[in-house]
Amino acid sequence: MELNRRHLLTASALLLARPSMGLPREVDSAGAKPLILCWNENPYGPSPKARAVIAATISESCRYPDEDIRELTTLLARENGIPADHLVLGTGSGELLRAMGALCARDRGEIVAAQPTYTELTEYAHRAGATLKFVPVDKDLRHDLDAMRAAVSERTRVVYLCNPNNPTGTALPSEAIDAFVAAMPQHVTVVIDEAYMDFVDLPGVRSALPLVTQGRRVVVLRTFSKIHGMAGIRVGYGIAGPDLITELTGIVMTSPNIFAMRAARASLLDPDFRAQCFKKIRASRTRITTELARLGRRYAVPQGNFVFFDTGMPLEAFSDSMKARNILVGRLFPPYDTWCRITIGTEPEVATFLQALNEVLKSGITRTSADRAGNRNAARDRYPV
Ligand code: PLP
Repeated sequence: MELNRRHLLTASALLLARPSMGLPREVDSAGAKPLILCWNENPYGPSPKARAVIAATISESCRYPDEDIRELTTLLARENGIPADHLVLGTGSGELLRAMGALCARDRGEIVAAQPTYTELTEYAHRAGATLKFVPVDKDLRHDLDAMRAAVSERTRVVYLCNPNNPTGTALPSEAIDAFVAAMPQHVTVVIDEAYMDFVDLPGVRSALPLVTQGRRVVVLRTFSKIHGMAGIRVGYGIAGPDLITELTGIVMTSPNIFAMRAARASLLDPDFRAQCFKKIRASRTRITTELARLGRRYAVPQGNFVFFDTGMPLEAFSDSMKARNILVGRLFPPYDTWCRITIGTEPEVATFLQALNEVLKSGITRTSADRAGNRNAARDRYPV
């Protein structure tokens, strides 16, 4: 069974609590917190306004949050220019991905998804009885939309498009998504996961929200975990036609809490905070890719708050070397077994990571034959894939 993010979080929490279980010495002896660059979180969050509202809500947390749920729904509907019946809230967008998975599994449907991509929908749906069809990303590590279209069958109920994609970070232009959705048969719902859309700076890449308003069978998923920096607070939402929203609302299992509802509203009303996060994270992203290019390392064109790059050595060796320096990096995403996903932390964290990267690459542990071949093509390797 493949581990998901929550399993790993639990496991790492246990490991941190028990230093004798093989954690890096820095954590063992000094109890220093590791640098967490593995979960694609935004370390600048939450917004000061969201923090203040959370503190101020403590005394009201004996109350049910029904009114707050209505208020957040109304605000999100207004911000997105859609009626409130086009919206469903979730305890993170992960809950809504699972809900889509459960709907798909109910009639033993099939899901078509890229390989590699974010696996919360596919893993959950598979456990619930859905079948999965994975389509490898193309040479630029983007969704191969032609191949995905060809993979759709009579049994397909859901196609999952993660835009930008986790873990590759690559993004699809709106035109390509529009054409893809238009070519889908009636029995297919396209789930478009826009968890990282707020970090995009490529022209032509935009939200697929207009497809919902045009009446296409599409669900657009968003989260407060990334640009809003509220991953621990757990709020996400889905936008779709009212029929699909009714189905999703009927199947979600949790109801949002009062802190999350109020913090999300406060954060939505703080666009300056998001603009600052975007500016800092984009600058760090460029800093990382510039350094990767200087080091001759290939990387996928990053459009999220993380960078996926070829370390040139087995990922396990690279992660272990980073761990020895108290830095936690992303897990293995087969078949990219020499590639690493690194989350963009604060500026000092990025500096620490880049220094460690230089040290680890210089130490030259177990270069792969692919890397040796790559050295002969150094000019090509310095180019993003
Ligand atoms: N979608 C993608 C692509 C993600 O990478 C993540 C989390 O990392 C999620 C959804 C889930 O986000 P959350 O459940 O925190 O809203």
